[in-house]
Amino acid sequence: MKVAVVTGSNKGIGFACVRALCKHLDGGIVYLTSRDEGRGKTAIEELKKEGLNPSFHQLDINDQESITRLRDDLQKEHGGLDILIQNAAIAFKGKDPTPFAEQASISMATNFTAHLNVCRTLFPILKPGARVSSVASFVAPRLWSKISEDLKKRFNAVKTEDDVVKLMAEFVELAQTDKHKDKGWIDSAYMTTKMGVCALTKIQGEAMLADSRDDILVNCADPGWVKTDMSSGTGNKTTDEGAETLVYVALLPPGTKTHGKMFSDCKVNDFW
Ligand code: NDP
Repeated sequence: MKVAVVTGSNKGIGFACVRALCKHLDGGIVYLTSRDEGRGKTAIEELKKEGLNPSFHQLDINDQESITRLRDDLQKEHGGLDILIQNAAIAFKGKDPTPFAEQASISMATNFTAHLNVCRTLFPILKPGARVSSVASFVAPRLWSKISEDLKKRFNAVKTEDDVVKLMAEFVELAQTDKHKDKGWIDSAYMTTKMGVCALTKIQGEAMLADSRDDILVNCADPGWVKTDMSSGTGNKTTDEGAETLVYVALLPPGTKTHGKMFSDCKVNDFW
């Protein structure tokens, strides 16, 4: 019986991923997680009305104790984890008056650092054959077409998670004094964090080749442009359509040899 967790799934694309996984994993256990217990339980009730039966666990990815609690409960109840869709993220709206320096720190803390903390805490309990689908974005290829050649070389040279951590920290530090553009970055914290997820996924996916557990795949996925609160209801896809590639990556069949790649429209998108 497979056990799946979707982060940030009380609404939006994450919620649609839970719905899809409940349908795909006949007899499996799918955890809808939410930082706010009330919002999470309301979401569970909605899916129950559709005849589905997700489980609930509180998870705030910015709170290490919350991540550790989830890990301990998964280990105790199920002996580990088979599917992880890392969907939780934030994005400042275009008109948000928060200074760019602050937006950079806050976005990085959730979309990259907390994401990495989830990986570091939950990857040790992944079972053989597990699948990780980290949510990236079509904005990563856009960023790639705009950053300096020097930065591209540095992204291409990353060999460890810490190399990616350093690149992301450098962006945040430069943003504090508005120097990021002078060093080849662009004026988008959100896009930078999603490139960070792609680079991290490459390292993590390739590292799994040497893992003693067999056939674990770590890849990332671009949902496309989806009508959610994050996109202020714009977008050309419904949340169910946005979930498709994320769920496809989470269900890649045994023996698939795709490690550390980004998928768009259910195909590898080798943009960097
Ligand atoms: P929403 O803003 O609709 O949903 C985001 C979800 O993440 C919410 O459940 C939110 O919870 C949760 N979340 C945020 N911070 C945390 C945290 N610290 N801990 C746990 N959960 C958290 O966004 P979308 O559904 O649009 O986005 C889902 C993913 O898809 C994100 O990774 C996003 O970057 C990506 N994406 C979205 C696109 C789009 O067009 N919508 C395009 C490309 C990528 P709460 O309700 O408590 O705030």
